[in-house]
Formats: sequence, structure tokens, C-alpha cells
Amino acid sequence: MILRRVIDHFRKQEWTAIAIDFLIVVMGVFIGMQVQALAVERDRQKSERAYLARLHGEVEQLIATRERYDRTRGKFSADLIAAVGLLDGEAADITLSPDQCDAIAGSAHTTVPPADLPTVTELLSTGRLDQLTAPTVRVAILTYMQEASRAHDLIMVITDSGRDLGKAYPHLITHHLGPSRSVGDQVWVNPDCRADAMRADPAFRNELSENAYMYNVYANRAVLPVSAKLAMLHKAIDDETGADHAQSVEKQP
Ligand SMILES: [Zn+2]
Repeated sequence: MILRRVIDHFRKQEWTAIAIDFLIVVMGVFIGMQVQALAVERDRQKSERAYLARLHGEVEQLIATRERYDRTRGKFSADLIAAVGLLDGEAADITLSPDQCDAIAGSAHTTVPPADLPTVTELLSTGRLDQLTAPTVRVAILTYMQEASRAHDLIMVITDSGRDLGKAYPHLITHHLGPSRSVGDQVWVNPDCRADAMRADPAFRNELSENAYMYNVYANRAVLPVSAKLAMLHKAIDDETGADHAQSVEKQP
């Protein structure tokens, strides 16, 4: 329709009309491109909101899962250091508490706590991290991933260096497999520790001290820093999405 009109104007050499036709075509193309760009941007924003919502759910779930690791690893480490202190001390009669004996028997068990965030893995593996435009969220994701990777490597080294004291010193630690003394619904080795014989064995005490030191490194330089970076990522997502947890907690009965 426009083409026939333009040819007609050319034949009649109506230059003003030709200029107007040209302008109409250019404006049409320009508006079409703008509408398309707006649609693309709307899709990108929708996809960004979906990614942030998914990531937020995964971060909350991971924080809840890691909370038990943070708590038990910290307590286990404190029990181990207290046990070493008792064995090294001057007191004539010493009794290790069941928790301290548990910590001694499990002092070489340094597992890697869960740290995976499937949405981050998906965004990084497909090279689409730029779907998230907020630099604070992107930096928090990369910092978290870096810390989790560093902690994983550190835990591997610590796990290789740990010595299972129950296996190495069965005359000092005796296992009694059955329901856990502290957590009734779990099966545990329920170790018994012979504190006086432990104190009299310098090789055992050296190995225990080494395990206690490495366990402290495991808890404070591998497990807890990753959880701290995860909390920072959570805050960055909350700031970006405007999530207000204080309000939702207050609303609960
Ligand atoms: Zn949140």
C-alpha cells in the first residue's frame, strides 16, 4: 500500500510527499524496534525475578540445613579442646563427659557440609549469570562460591590428616553401637573412654591434640565462614527483592 503510494509520488516528482512517506517508514521501523526491545526487556526482568525467587528459596533451605552443621561442629570442637585440657591438667581424678568422649571418638570425622545452590550452578554452567543485573547479588554469589570451593579443598586436606582414634587405640576407646545416648532416634557408636589410661599414653595425647587442632580449623575456617558468606548472599537477595523476614516472623501466631 505504502510502496504503491511512494512509486506514485516518485512518478509525479512530489518530493515533499516522498519525504513524508520516508519519515513514516523510518518511524514505523523505529517504533517496531522499540516495542520489540521493550518486550525483550520485560521477558528478561521476568526471568530475573524468577531466578532470584528460586535462588532465595534454595538459600533459605541451605541455611536451615547448614544450621545443624554450624551448631554441632562448633560444640564438637569445644568439647574436644575441653577434653584435651582435662587430660593435660593436673587434677588427680578426671572423668570425661559423654559429649567429650563422643568428640574424641569422632575427632577424625570431618565431612563436607552441603553447599550446592542448583540455580547458581545452572546460571554459571550456561554462562547466564548476567541475567542477574544487581552487582551486589552477583558479587555475593561469586564470593560464596569461592569460599565454598576453598572450604571444600581445606576439608579434604583435614580429612586426609585425621586419625580415627577408636581404631588406633581400641584399648582406650570402646564402641557400643546402639541408640544414641544424646539423640535417642539415631544410631551411634556410644564410645566409652578410659580417661586415666588416655592420660598415661603420650602418643594418644599427641594424636588427640592434633585431631583437636585440625577439628578447630575445620569448624572455624571451613564450615562457619561458608555459612557466613551464605548469610551475606541471603541479605543481598533480600535487599534486591525487598523481602522482609522480620515482618513475616511478626505475623506468625
Ligand atoms: Zn530472605
